[in-house]
Amino acid sequence: MAAGGFFDPNIETMDRGDLDTLIDERVRYTVRYAAEHSPFYRHWFAHHAINPADIRVHEDLLDLPLIAGKTIREHQPPVTKEFEFRSAACADIFSIQETSGTSGTPKGFFLTWDDWKRYAEKYARSFVSQGFGRKDRIVVCASYGMNVGANTMTIAAQRIGMGIIPMGKCTFDSRILTRYRPTAIVGSGFKLLRLARRLRAEGIQPGDIAIDKLVCGGESFAEESRRYLAGQWDCPVYNTYGSTEGTMCGECTSMNGLHVPEDLVHLDVYNPRIESFVPDGECGRAVLTTLLPVGQKSGMLLLNYDTEDTTVIQSREKCACGRTHLRIHNPRREAETAWIFGNSMNRVDVEAAVFQPENMEYLTGEYESFVYDGESAGEVILRISVECQDKDQCDRHAVEDQVIGRFLKNKPGMAKEYHEGNLKILVSFVGPGGLELSRSKGRPKRLVDRRGTA
Ligand SMILES: [Zn+2]
Repeated sequence: MAAGGFFDPNIETMDRGDLDTLIDERVRYTVRYAAEHSPFYRHWFAHHAINPADIRVHEDLLDLPLIAGKTIREHQPPVTKEFEFRSAACADIFSIQETSGTSGTPKGFFLTWDDWKRYAEKYARSFVSQGFGRKDRIVVCASYGMNVGANTMTIAAQRIGMGIIPMGKCTFDSRILTRYRPTAIVGSGFKLLRLARRLRAEGIQPGDIAIDKLVCGGESFAEESRRYLAGQWDCPVYNTYGSTEGTMCGECTSMNGLHVPEDLVHLDVYNPRIESFVPDGECGRAVLTTLLPVGQKSGMLLLNYDTEDTTVIQSREKCACGRTHLRIHNPRREAETAWIFGNSMNRVDVEAAVFQPENMEYLTGEYESFVYDGESAGEVILRISVECQDKDQCDRHAVEDQVIGRFLKNKPGMAKEYHEGNLKILVSFVGPGGLELSRSKGRPKRLVDRRGTA
C-alpha cells in the first residue's frame, strides 16, 4: 500500500550498500535457479564452461556472454522441440504471453504467479512515484492482448487502490472522459496527441474532463514532443519503459530519468561495436538480468539479455524524490537508428526537430523520415515528411528552416556533411492522412533507411 509517496519505502529508499547486498543475494539465487530449472541456461553454462557457483556478485555478470531475442527464438518450437527458456513446471505456469518485437516471429513467454506479482509491483512503484493513489482513476490504453503490460498495470492499480477503465486502446469515445471523469491515461504519446486533437475538434473544454496526468509508454518520446503533449493536455506527462521481458522503469515526479527497480531487474549497458560494457554516462544497449527474491519461482528468467534498446545510466545518486534506485535515460530502439557518414541518427532526433514550438502552430506532430542514396556516389538524402494541420496555411519556409536548423544543431557530425554538400535534407509537407505510415498497418515506422547499401 502506498505510504508517504512510496509503494515500498524500505526497498525504494534503501541505501546503496544494503541495496547492493540484496542485489548480489538475488544474483546468486537467480543464477542457481537458472542452472537448476532452465534447460537453456543449463546448456549455456556448460557450453561456456561457466560454473554457476562462481557468479557471486552483480559485477560477475559482466564476464558472461549476452543473449538476445534471437536466442529465445532459436530455442523454442519449431527450431527446438521444447521451449528451452521455460524455467518452471507446466503446473506452475499461470500465463503464456507472446511478444513479436521487430522481426515478427513471436517469442513465447511463460509466467508464474510470482512473475505476475513482481511485474505488478514494478508498475505499482512507478505509478506511486508519479503521484498516483486511491483518488485516481486511470484509463489503460495499452493493449490487453498477449503483451503483459495492460494486465499487470491493472493488478498494480488494485494494489495501489486506484480505479481503472480498461479500454485497451486510445480510440475510445470521448464520453469516457466526460462521464466517468478519469484522472489519468496511460498510452503511447502519438495516440494521446491524436486524442487531444479529437477532443478539441469535438469542442470538449478542459473543464469537461478531469485528466491531471498522462503516462507514456510503448515507445521513446523526444523531450520536445513530451513538452508539446503536456501543453496540449495541460498536465504532466511521465515516461515509462516496459516490456514483456520484465523491464518496467518509470519516471518519478522529479522527471530526472527513469528509475530502474534494481532489486527486481539488474541493468548493464553494453557497446556492441566495441563489445564491452560501458561506464555510467555512456550510451549503449540496455542489457537486463531478471532478479528473483530468494525462494520465488520464475517461468522464464533472463540473464544478460540484450534488449536492443539504447540508454545511458544517468545517475546512481539518490533522487530528489528520495528513491535510491538508479536512473536511466528513456531507452530508444536500436532498430530505429540509421548510420549516416559514421553518425548515428535515431528516430527521436528527427522527432525533436519536428516538435519545435514554432512549428506546432502548423503541424500535427505526425512525421516520417526516409534515408536514400543520392544521385552521385557518397551523397545521402534525408527526407522528413511532416503532416500539416492545413497544408495551404502552413508557412513551409519557416517550418523547413526550423526542422533542418534544429536537426543539424543536435548532430554536428552531420552538419559538417550537410555544409559540404554530401548530405541533403528535404522537408516535404502533406495534409492530414497523407503520410505513408497512415496507410500501413502495425507499429508506425518513422525512420526508414532505403539506401541500397543499408
Ligand atoms: Zn525519483
